[in-house]
Amino acid sequence: MDFKKLRQEMVEVQLAGRDVRDEKVLETFLQIPRELFVLEKYRYSAYDDSPLPIGYGQTISQPYMVAKMTEILNLHKNDILLEIGSGSGYQAAIASRLCKFVYSVELVPELAEFARNNLEKAGIDNVEVICGDGSIGLEEFAPYDKIVITAAIEEVPLELFDQLKDGGCIVAPEGPRYTQQLVKYEKINNEIVKEVYFGCVFVPLRGEKGFKE
Ligand code: SAH
Repeated sequence: MDFKKLRQEMVEVQLAGRDVRDEKVLETFLQIPRELFVLEKYRYSAYDDSPLPIGYGQTISQPYMVAKMTEILNLHKNDILLEIGSGSGYQAAIASRLCKFVYSVELVPELAEFARNNLEKAGIDNVEVICGDGSIGLEEFAPYDKIVITAAIEEVPLELFDQLKDGGCIVAPEGPRYTQQLVKYEKINNEIVKEVYFGCVFVPLRGEKGFKE
């Protein structure tokens, strides 16, 4: 299986072929081997245009979704990013190449371990995966330049705005259990400005401020 060729096709067709325009984001997708972040049995589907199961009822997000969220975050090389929902570690791996450091919180201990192992296999050393409830953010290393939530949330919790630096932004799929919108909240002079992108469906965020069912 020629993963490099599949990776190039994914970037051309699924990302650049749609509306991912940021050259640095496209370049990063060419560098990170997605096959290292999926379960062994899905290796040959690693470049499919869809999410894939990673166990525990969770998924690695569709490449296009990861790319759009990364593009909207507009990461800079000195940014410290907080990711909520490590899952496979793939989103963190992509982001890690575009910023200084990623703190990534994962609720399921086995998945935190999965993400750590995958990141190590990919040779990434500027991501720290922390096992815990990210629905209240991660006070310990706050404030962050950017925050990305990779699971559905009814409303972005207020704690996260407190943990965000002025000039930073939060990108998240926000809305009810089965239909969300990808949104960005920017903190500009301590005022919050919201922008709505497109409809999407993510697995639910759990924990204190997450979905209860
Ligand atoms: N970013 C991931 C996709 C994550 S799917 C990737 O690139 O593969 C969403 C993840 O959020 C799941 O792994 C799920 O276990 C996790 N999650 C759900 N609720 C959470 C919470 N309250 N805190 C941290 N992680 C949570």
